[in-house]
Parts: sequence; C-alpha cells; structure tokens
Amino acid sequence: MLPLVALVGRPNVGKSTLFNALTRTRDALVHDQPGVTRDRNYGVCRPEGQRAFAVVDTGGIAGVDEGLAGATARQARAAAEEADLVLFVVDGREGASALDDDILRWLRKAARPTVLVVNKTDGIDARAAMAEFARYGFGDVIAISSAHRMGIDDLLDDIQERL
Ligand code: GDP
Ligand code: MG
Repeated sequence: MLPLVALVGRPNVGKSTLFNALTRTRDALVHDQPGVTRDRNYGVCRPEGQRAFAVVDTGGIAGVDEGLAGATARQARAAAEEADLVLFVVDGREGASALDDDILRWLRKAARPTVLVVNKTDGIDARAAMAEFARYGFGDVIAISSAHRMGIDDLLDDIQERL
C-alpha cells in the first residue's frame, strides 16, 4: 500500500490546486468559492525517481461544527488521522487566521507528522509570509505556489524524507 499524505487547511487556501499539482490532474474541483470540495478526493503522486504516494484532498475545515461544514470538518479530521503525513496548508497572502489556529489545535491532538505549507507565495515576499506563521512552531515550513508550480520540487523532497 502507498503511504498517504493528507492536505488539510481552511477553505480557499489552495488545497485542491496543490492536489492537482501533485497528482498532475484536474480531478479536484478548484473554485473561487470557499468550501467547494466537500468529499475526500484521493489521487496518486508519482514523482520521477522518487517513491509514489497517495494524496487525499479534504474539504476546507469550517469553524462551525454543524451541518455540511461540520460533516466536512469531520471528513478532514478522519483523513488527517489515517495519514502518514499531513500537509497543513495555509494562505501566505492572508497570514494566520483564527480558523488556522483552530486547525492547528486539533492537528496537535491528532499528533501526525506535519509539514506547514505556506501557499500563494507567488509575487510576494515568501520569507515574510513564512514568518507570519513562525509562532506555530513548525520545524518544517515550505513556501510554495501551487498555481505556479513554485516550490513543489522542494516540497516533494521534503515529503520523501518524511515518508
Ligand atoms: P481550497 O479551498 O483550499 O481547495 O482552495 P482552491 O485550490 O480551490 O483554491 C482557492 C483559490 O485560490 C482559487 O481561486 C485558486 O486559483 C487560488 N489559488 C490556489 N493556489 C494559489 C497560488 O499558489 N497562488 C495564487 N495566487 N492563488 C492560488
Ligand atoms: Mg478544495
């Protein structure tokens, strides 16, 4: 069985865009509207000369734990808990939000190996964007742009080391 990498983060940070960049598909629905990906979506990443792994895209985790948003949050938590590695995806343009803080809290409880992935760093100061999340205390922080395929190779190297 392939190792499993879960993409977790609040709506609209670019999880589905990253899923597509990793799996080189357009299977995941990418949308301007937050919370478009409702279900778990599985794919496979086969990096050249590296170990293949399964990827699961999860719906954005909304703060209110009820209705559809609550079901989506539960799916995301379940995906994170079964994953070998979690990519905690955040928005480098918007910086840390209360929702990111919430997700961080339950990710700590889930206690899975986690990499902090700062997305949307195209056209901005990536170092400053990463510094916004320094208080989260991650040893492993990678700046990427899913939309422009920047930093994806570094991320893949990091994933390989962690699997
Ligand atoms: P999700 O809700 O976390 O799955 O986010 P999506 O992948 O659906 O992306 C949400 C929005 O952010 C879309 O409009 C994407 O085009 C945009 N987006 C995603 N990745 C990037 C990126 O690396 N840079 C920029 N500038 N926009 C991005
Ligand atoms: Mg999505």
